[in-house]
Amino acid sequence: MDKRMSSEELLNSFWEALHSNHIFVVYQPKMNHSTGRMIGAEALMRWKDPENGMQYPSDFIPLLEHHDLIRFADLHVFEEVCRFQRKCLDEGISTVPISFNMSRYDIYHSDYVEQIEAMRCKYDIPVNLLHVEITESSAIGGMELVSSVLEKLHGFGYIVEMDDFGSGYSSLNVLKDLAVDVIKLDMRFLSGNKGNVGDRGGTIISAIVQMTKWLGTPVVAEGVETMQQADYMKSIGCSYIQGYLYSKPVTAEEFVEKLRQIDHEPVEKVLDLISTMDAGKFWNPESLETLIFNHYVGGAAIFTYQDGRMEILRVNQKYIKEIAMHTTEAEILQSDPWEVFDEENRQVYENTLRLAMESGEEESCDTWRIICSRICGKDKICVRSFIRMIGKAGSQAIFYAMVQNVTAEKKRYEILRDSELRFRYASEQINVYAWEYEIATKRMRPCFRCMRDLGLPPLLENYPDSAIEMGIFPPEIADEYRDWIRRLEAGEDSIEGVLPLTVGRVPFIVRYTLERDETGKPLKAYGSAALVIDPEETK
Ligand code: C2E
Ligand code: CA
Ligand code: CA
Repeated sequence: MDKRMSSEELLNSFWEALHSNHIFVVYQPKMNHSTGRMIGAEALMRWKDPENGMQYPSDFIPLLEHHDLIRFADLHVFEEVCRFQRKCLDEGISTVPISFNMSRYDIYHSDYVEQIEAMRCKYDIPVNLLHVEITESSAIGGMELVSSVLEKLHGFGYIVEMDDFGSGYSSLNVLKDLAVDVIKLDMRFLSGNKGNVGDRGGTIISAIVQMTKWLGTPVVAEGVETMQQADYMKSIGCSYIQGYLYSKPVTAEEFVEKLRQIDHEPVEKVLDLISTMDAGKFWNPESLETLIFNHYVGGAAIFTYQDGRMEILRVNQKYIKEIAMHTTEAEILQSDPWEVFDEENRQVYENTLRLAMESGEEESCDTWRIICSRICGKDKICVRSFIRMIGKAGSQAIFYAMVQNVTAEKKRYEILRDSELRFRYASEQINVYAWEYEIATKRMRPCFRCMRDLGLPPLLENYPDSAIEMGIFPPEIADEYRDWIRRLEAGEDSIEGVLPLTVGRVPFIVRYTLERDETGKPLKAYGSAALVIDPEETK
């Protein structure tokens, strides 16, 4: 019979327990539910007191943490794992990566990572056979500390798994800041009642899985007890499973047996970063990811939106090239995305987000932003965004946006509109009628004065016949005028002559100037008609 020891008893027997291997390690396999192969295992600490029997980790681990003893126990576990892997390597037992738990109290000791690394070197274990599990709550002490530990671990080559993901409420934001390699999603936090992942829990899980896939981070679902849960996870694209369904944690000897019996395979990233997306890596051709990938044209960003707050989680290289003007991804992620919008443009963008949430379809908008960068200085750019919601958890929605910098296009349009306006104002000022004839379409656009005095619509199709029909060019000069137009179409640069216009046969000096496109092809002809004031001119 196991008897629960008091805190005092546990603390008193700690060192003895450590040195006599009363504190030891059990192993729980991590499986690929799609293939039935083993992808790894987790090392879990156990304490079996010779008199009182098994003690609960939930009792002694918080106690050891509280008394700053956990690092000794954790290092002991790590050494056991190293010994285990050494034995497998020596005896030719094909093994898998084994993860060990790193308490957030270990992190507070600046040399803990070096201690681990020294131990690994002592046993000469390839670093890919040892994964680190850190919990999301490690970030409680401040992001800088965890980030620096993570950097150190990565520097030595360790794969880092984020444990108990989803237990904290700001999970998505933590992910953005911590570059972990694997995410462990605990079903026990997320699936309300046991085995039932249908409702709220299910929605959150699928949104998280969907997003982590975009981030390119593999997910291991842990605490999976039923086939239903495992199948559900597989159905949303997460086949890596750890839990009682496959195996309870087992002793080292039992685990060796499992290693011998079960085939292994490495963990595959669904995709690397978005910047290195590779269609071949998409596991499901029907998936949203594939769909979006196929529509993929350039810059892309993933961001969350909740109650007016927007947070960018990832941008790809093309995004930076397209619209970020040489700022870095880190700078973009740190900044408040709304900073670059003015009130009007922000409203346009938020409306589009709401629309995308309601429709579930891709929605688009053009918004102006003011970007400041060290390299390019301050500039105003126009961004066309195609936005699609890819997941929703409560009031938090996750979006995928493709962006295009359309500043040049917009500016061209504005210049055109400006020159058109100026042209119209100018012809207002002098006594001139002006129009523009587009050769390819046979369309004529008259100035305001023409519309007012001659009753022309803003656009005349089938020019010049339409104007001839209206009597602006009387019948006796119709053929001559048609010939003018033909000459312009053939490339004559300018034509000038006096023509009697309208039913009143009022003499006008009519001038044409041709505009060509960049290849030299006639594009437009600008026409003007000025009243002949001095009758001498008509001779
Ligand atoms: P954890 O890191 O989340 O470990 C997974 C826990 O879930 C283990 O509990 C495991 O036995 C349990 N588990 C696995 N599959 C299932 C399942 O299908 N259903 C249920 N209900 N539970 C399942 P355990 O061994 O009691 O450990 C509890 C916690 O203690 C661990 O949670 C971890 O936070 C901590 N811990 C365990 N070993 C170590 C260690 O070596 N160092 C440190 N710092 N903490 C450890
Ligand atoms: Ca763990
Ligand atoms: Ca866990």
